[in-house]
Amino acid sequence: MPGTGHSPSFDLILRGGRVIDPRNRRDGASDVAIAGGRIAAVAPHIDAGGAPVRNVAGSIVAPGLIDIHTHVYHKATSLSVDPGFIARRSACTTLVDAGSAGAGNYDGFRDYVMRQSPYRIFAFLNVSFPGIFGFDKDVSIGEATLRAMLPVHRCVQKIEANRDRIVGVKVRIGGIVTGDLGLGALELALEAATAVDLPLMAHIGTAPPSYSTVVDMLRPGDILTHCYRPDPNSAIGEDGKVLQAVRAARERGVLFDIAHGMGAFGYETAEAALKDGFKPDLISSDVHVIAVEGPGYDLLHIMSKLLNCGLSLHEVIDMSSNRPALAIQRPDLGHLGVGAPADITVLNEHDSSYVFEDVVGTRRQGARILQPVAVYLGGQEMEVSRRPFEEAFLGHTHHH
Ligand SMILES: [Zn+2]
Repeated sequence: MPGTGHSPSFDLILRGGRVIDPRNRRDGASDVAIAGGRIAAVAPHIDAGGAPVRNVAGSIVAPGLIDIHTHVYHKATSLSVDPGFIARRSACTTLVDAGSAGAGNYDGFRDYVMRQSPYRIFAFLNVSFPGIFGFDKDVSIGEATLRAMLPVHRCVQKIEANRDRIVGVKVRIGGIVTGDLGLGALELALEAATAVDLPLMAHIGTAPPSYSTVVDMLRPGDILTHCYRPDPNSAIGEDGKVLQAVRAARERGVLFDIAHGMGAFGYETAEAALKDGFKPDLISSDVHVIAVEGPGYDLLHIMSKLLNCGLSLHEVIDMSSNRPALAIQRPDLGHLGVGAPADITVLNEHDSSYVFEDVVGTRRQGARILQPVAVYLGGQEMEVSRRPFEEAFLGHTHHH
């Protein structure tokens, strides 16, 4: 019997890291104890009582990262990437797919991807029956151009049968995605989301419809994804300020998500929004077959990018763990309270000489970059992988 006999037996202690747990208002040096796959204790000093101890002093100990906008219906949809690859590289424990699948092919996603992966994978179900079917390096076919492609009752039925994994409805709005159907696609998606009482994640693309028209239709808890897209059709008006419709949407509880991707992060937009006090609610990658090769890369890279735009480390972690968990209505995830699943991401912050680039080629030097150290998923240590695109630019570790 280890220790005094009074201390509970732990499976592992993470010793001395800077624990950032926004849900529980914790930010400071603490030990974290894991037992039975759950957080067993968080305190300035925990007596290991014979349990294994991993020294993480100088590192950041965060809730397991949640990427709320990914495409991971791997090998069955042309835009998707391997969820294991992306989780290892970006130190995530939870990936949320943003509408790669629709009612017509969701079962394959569930049986051949979600159930085969150790990671927690959830989905926004596309209101379009085939999901995003025509997206690849040199193919781009809209999935929401015809009313017949969006049978609301089929979306609702599929969600009702799969509420354990489906966390909302997805629709892409604008440009070639909706074509002549335009706002009709948004109306159908809202009808589906209302019927199942779940959030809608709405993609904003090129006009028509305008950014203001789309956000005006969103309800509290709905998510506007690609919130810092560049002009044309950005969140910034001609006066250089955030659009009034965007402010009004935030006030009624609409959430704004980064979803960098290949076309949806412009420094000009981001800097104007931040200058006007309009921070994102959620940070996500929109990682897919093109974005995975940069300049978006993955969630961790985009967290570093926003850190260098002036968000605090605490905010960046909040927007990539706690707040996405709440947005998908999974409050058990995204925090490090006692009893929660032991989903933990350990990071180091490095000085860096990295030059970040947005989707229109604007560059900014970044002085700070986050790197994965370790990931625990339900208490099990998972592999983390190298990030070759950042490695040449890393300086000293910044001690927390
Ligand atoms: Zn996407």
